[in-house]
Amino acid sequence: MESLKVALVFNHVEKSIQVADQLKHLLVTSGNQIDQDNPDIVISIGGDGTLLSAFHLYSHKLDQVRFLGVHTGHLGFYTDWRDYELEELVDTLCNNQEANVSYPLLDIVIQYRDDRADKHFLALNESSIKSIHRTMVGEVFMKEQFFESFRGDGLSVSTPTGSTAYNKSIGGAVLHPSIEAIQLAEIASLNNRVFRTIGSPIVVSKEDWIEIKLPQGSECLITIDQFNIQQEEVASVIYRVAEEKIRFASYRHMDFWHRVREAFIGEHQRRNEI
Ligand code: NAP
Repeated sequence: MESLKVALVFNHVEKSIQVADQLKHLLVTSGNQIDQDNPDIVISIGGDGTLLSAFHLYSHKLDQVRFLGVHTGHLGFYTDWRDYELEELVDTLCNNQEANVSYPLLDIVIQYRDDRADKHFLALNESSIKSIHRTMVGEVFMKEQFFESFRGDGLSVSTPTGSTAYNKSIGGAVLHPSIEAIQLAEIASLNNRVFRTIGSPIVVSKEDWIEIKLPQGSECLITIDQFNIQQEEVASVIYRVAEEKIRFASYRHMDFWHRVREAFIGEHQRRNEI
């Protein structure tokens, strides 16, 4: 059995701190090391938000790191293990290196009007563009082709696993994570004879990309998962399915649609009318 280097990322909820202590003990006594700087495995303890933070802490090491989520609250989309299953988790992690799964990420490039270099980011859930002072105005291009003029609160581009987060709240579709695509969704678009948008979410394949061009002088707020970047003189933001993926270790298969039902529909019973 190979010794693993494991990093722990947890939120400040008391339960998560306790679970982190227990996990640390179990991992070390079964011959593994805690290594926050150069891990093979990153275990997040908390909720989906905690896994998002863990992803951004280690997003520069995606080729060497696998993630695993323990939930100390409600069942999440990135968290498979419960806080009372820690011994089984450590055992599976040490003895079953096969159960891996990977999910698509969003690649983001911000280009400026001035001589600033392009900025490059990865998102696990989504990125959105909003205007700071007034209504957001932008031109949407698919590849190099003009698609629409947008005016409204903003635009969001999400990954399949992010489709159940902000994207869902703004009317986007829920996408199965096996689909390698990104989704563009509108946030309160204004439609008239000048600004005309498709008015529905669109799903773009990994061969295509979305470019959102912004007008000169505009100041915008670009969100990347839980981060906000306030920027002036952005010329355009380009979104595509990233080359990189996030890999999960010791993944326990739960049917995605079952998970969606558990999260959003819950206990509502069939009415048995059909
Ligand atoms: P956060 O506390 O990290 O997350 C906000 C909520 O979104 C939490 O309940 C979190 O679940 C849930 N969440 C995160 N990723 C999810 C996913 N892939 N599917 C379903 N639910 C998910 O808040 P934050 O730090 O401000 O922002 C992080 C994320 O929150 C963003 O990426 C965005 O998607 C989401 N958000 C949603 C809205 C909205 O729906 N109106 C508004 C702002 C931000 P846990 O409780 O398990 O952590």
